[in-house]
Amino acid sequence: MFLDMPTISLVSLSATTILGLLLCFMWWRERSNPLIGWWGVAQLVMSSGLAFANAASLVEDPRLLVFGQALILLSAAIMWMAARQFEGRTLNPLWIAIWPCAFVIAAATGLIQTFDERLMAASTALGVIFLLAAGEFARQQGEPLVSRWPAAILLIVTGLGYLAWLPLTLTMPIQAVGEVYSSTWMPTVILVALLGRIALAFVVLAIVKERQEIQHRMFALTDALTGLPNRRALFESARALAEEGPYMRGGPVSVLVFDLDHFKKINDTYGHRLGDRVLQLFSQTLSDTLDADCIVGRLGGEEFAAILPGSTLAEATEQAEKVRIAFAEVAADIEGYPVAGTVSVGVASHDDMACDIGALFHRADGALYTAKQAGRNRVQPIESDQRSQFDDAEPGTYATPRWLSDGDGTAMRARATRRYRGSVDAA
Ligand code: GH3
Ligand code: MG
Ligand code: MG
Repeated sequence: MFLDMPTISLVSLSATTILGLLLCFMWWRERSNPLIGWWGVAQLVMSSGLAFANAASLVEDPRLLVFGQALILLSAAIMWMAARQFEGRTLNPLWIAIWPCAFVIAAATGLIQTFDERLMAASTALGVIFLLAAGEFARQQGEPLVSRWPAAILLIVTGLGYLAWLPLTLTMPIQAVGEVYSSTWMPTVILVALLGRIALAFVVLAIVKERQEIQHRMFALTDALTGLPNRRALFESARALAEEGPYMRGGPVSVLVFDLDHFKKINDTYGHRLGDRVLQLFSQTLSDTLDADCIVGRLGGEEFAAILPGSTLAEATEQAEKVRIAFAEVAADIEGYPVAGTVSVGVASHDDMACDIGALFHRADGALYTAKQAGRNRVQPIESDQRSQFDDAEPGTYATPRWLSDGDGTAMRARATRRYRGSVDAA
């Protein structure tokens, strides 16, 4: 295969420009992902640098080459800063400007004089910048982005590729711009570098999309007021637990269903703003009091639930009691108002984690109804052989936990909840 230098240079230049324009266009459409925008700008700066370097080889003017190399350094520094900003760190323009400026100053003052020296300085600096950019993507910061790894690996390979120029140039000096541009291997290097730029652009798009998807999923699964998992997230966790149960450590599982007492009255007396504050305080109490491996969530309104993997009925009842006491304490007086908030809790357990957790929720709901009927502000466990208040509500629903998997089931639970509420309201 023969690749002639003018053709491959033109291909590299135009492909890098198109890549830059496309990325800038994508950023302009959404404006929410600076990484894409900066990466596009970096490609445009890179293509300008390549244009100057090519022009230098045509007119044999070293100043043009220095300027072109400085632009290529600038492009790499922009990519590094963009990666840094993506990881939530500051984008410092000084770190972008210092590389090309230092290079131009070193060339102008004669610190790096020959073609070889400039080539070694520029490629070593590029190698370092790309490795720094790889380091930014590799930084975990608790965000499980899978596509950060191809990005880091591609940047490491690019960085090491540039660093390899140092020993190569030392052992095989090139000396003049004309020589490097007339060599047979240079077109291959340009082609590989272009493919690397295209691959990196795709990976950058992938990493941004992946973060967006995670954020959208987070929003869809988080309750906006309390920050707790919402009903859907809780049921997804329940389903996952039921599916993974047999492969996990096994053992019992318990479900707690909480309902704040006379919450409507709190709203009516102190207003919805304070009502919201009570909900936030309760969610905080829940998270603070229960063990970290418990799955907690807001079912909706003033109803919350927790799944306690590994807890027996007695242990779960104890945990629920702690929550009840802690909440009564924090909600006695809120912002100077004698709110006296309390909570009622229904507790149900099964000795096998791989059980039908939907049925457990249903039984805990029945126990909650009993707690409400018994006067509220109490924890009501239900023994596994005890009949639940709602045992006759939906015949056969225990066999198929529909409400865990779709909307129909949710409606079923909502009906069950209304049943006790109706009775309590009527009482
Ligand atoms: P019980 O002791 O029987 O549970 O009585 P309750 O008043 O707590 O129950 P009810 O179902 O009658 O009232 C629940 C209230 O919760 C009604 C609704 O306005 C209020 N609510 C639901 N969601 C929110 C919310 O996000 N913020 C506020 N402030 N109130 C809410
Ligand atoms: Mg309620
Ligand atoms: Mg209530």
